[in-house]
Amino acid sequence: MSGLDDVHVIGGGVAGLTAAALLARAGARVTVYEHHNVPGGCAAFYQRDGYRFDVGATVVNGFGERGIHRRVFGALGVELAPDPVAPAMAVHLPDASITRYGDARWIAERRAAFGDDAEPFWRAQERIADRVWSFAAGLPVLPVDLRSAAHLARVFRAEHLPLLAMQGRSIASLIPRDASRRLRTFIDVQLLITAQAQARDVDLAFGATALDIAREGTYHLPGGISDIATALARAVRTHGGRIRYNTDVVRIRTGRRGVEALELRGGERIAANRVVAAIPYENVLGLLGREIPSDLRTRQRWSAVTAYVGVAPGVVPDDAVLHHQIVFDDALPLGEGNSAFVSISGAGDRARARNGGRAITVSTHTDVGAWETARANGTLDARKREYAARLHRAIERALGTRVSPEIFELGTPFSFERYTLRHRGMVGGTPQMRASANLLARSHRTGVRGLVLCGDTAFPGQSTVGVTLSAINAARALGAVTV
Ligand SMILES: Cc1cc2nc3c(=O)[nH]c(=O)nc-3n(C[C@H](O)[C@H](O)[C@H](O)COP(=O)(O)OP(=O)(O)OC[C@H]3O[C@@H](n4cnc5c(N)ncnc54)[C@H](O)[C@@H]3O)c2cc1C
Repeated sequence: MSGLDDVHVIGGGVAGLTAAALLARAGARVTVYEHHNVPGGCAAFYQRDGYRFDVGATVVNGFGERGIHRRVFGALGVELAPDPVAPAMAVHLPDASITRYGDARWIAERRAAFGDDAEPFWRAQERIADRVWSFAAGLPVLPVDLRSAAHLARVFRAEHLPLLAMQGRSIASLIPRDASRRLRTFIDVQLLITAQAQARDVDLAFGATALDIAREGTYHLPGGISDIATALARAVRTHGGRIRYNTDVVRIRTGRRGVEALELRGGERIAANRVVAAIPYENVLGLLGREIPSDLRTRQRWSAVTAYVGVAPGVVPDDAVLHHQIVFDDALPLGEGNSAFVSISGAGDRARARNGGRAITVSTHTDVGAWETARANGTLDARKREYAARLHRAIERALGTRVSPEIFELGTPFSFERYTLRHRGMVGGTPQMRASANLLARSHRTGVRGLVLCGDTAFPGQSTVGVTLSAINAARALGAVTV
């Protein structure tokens, strides 16, 4: 790639910044256009009254031996020193709290929680996950096409062959028929946060891997997960790239030769024939002036309600587990405050809470349509109060005690829409279902010459780890990028 190549990146989330930094390092002249005034998108932060909150994503992965963030930062020459977190999380079901250890203690824990009859499931899950991690370490490109076939042939090994036969199967096919409600609820709620769907729908290989992230390693960064995006933004600049904050791309113009220009809010027009759209696919269609088909196979399904909660020193014990998943009623659908994810900043983490307290982010899956209806019929405030109460209850369940916050702020789908411009405030990317994962995933290729896609609506899907692989694939498609 010559130093004169211009690449324009729409979106300064983890996907856009990873692609931008790698392309800049490879010699491209890169500009990132970012709507917000900080980097990170769904994995960004905001500060209030001495607290620094993760806005969406909280659980840091990808820094193990073969971890994708570690490899990218190594290639970019960026220092980031995450500490392992153990245990990864605690899952609180109505009748039991189960600790997600990443080491051998997990076997004793799951035996105690689910009995020996569930062992064949867990052993099969781990065997599949081992194959997927090994395949993923080759940084594969899917779905396969003529241009990616050579790369795929290089990274595909005989031990990965069984994965091919799994396409079209759900992870539910692995669960014993007479499995307990506890096991089913545990699997479903864990998959909800990692695959955005439940066992009956989730792709087998993806689901087995999504259930394995504790084993692969969970980490702590002093500034929270947003340290990833801020380090990437630094790398973009170090390698000569530019980030334009508070800058919205409002239109992607195309012609016979493919992508031709970007139009920015305010009227500026930028000639562009290499563009990385690091935004959801629905947003790309909007910028191209195309309809979003209602039967979009791989469309996003969820948004989130979040609460940002600051608590005084002493409220959270020093040895408390940092991440908790809660299910209140296992007879009701998950999400909508019936399940929630609670993440707490580390003990003594002054970068997150200046007073020595803790910064907590809580989130629950929610249906966007119900929020849009509430806004239309004037019941939005009541709805917000109801969700605030549910999320507050989730914190108390996680900590096992009453909590009087010093600060409590609520985020809704409209907050995600406002701060990340994501279509209807939908987050979490494409659910990883039988019809939308791996070989059937959305490619980084858009069908428009010069325009590539990355982020959590492209293969392999959500999480900072997932979007990093999508960014590598997008960057590879535009130039000689190696990691
Ligand atoms: C509540 C919640 C919890 C999560 N938990 C975890 C977790 O614990 N661990 C984990 O790894 N992942 C988690 N995720 C998922 C993870 O955050 C995302 O999959 C990932 O961060 C998406 O990155 P991205 O770059 O693809 O998109 P985004 O983060 O959405 O970034 C897109 C960026 O593009 C900008 N943008 C959009 N349109 C335009 C435009 N037209 N012009 C200019 N800029 C534009 C936005 O402002 C945004 O900064 C969570 C997500 C949420 C919402």
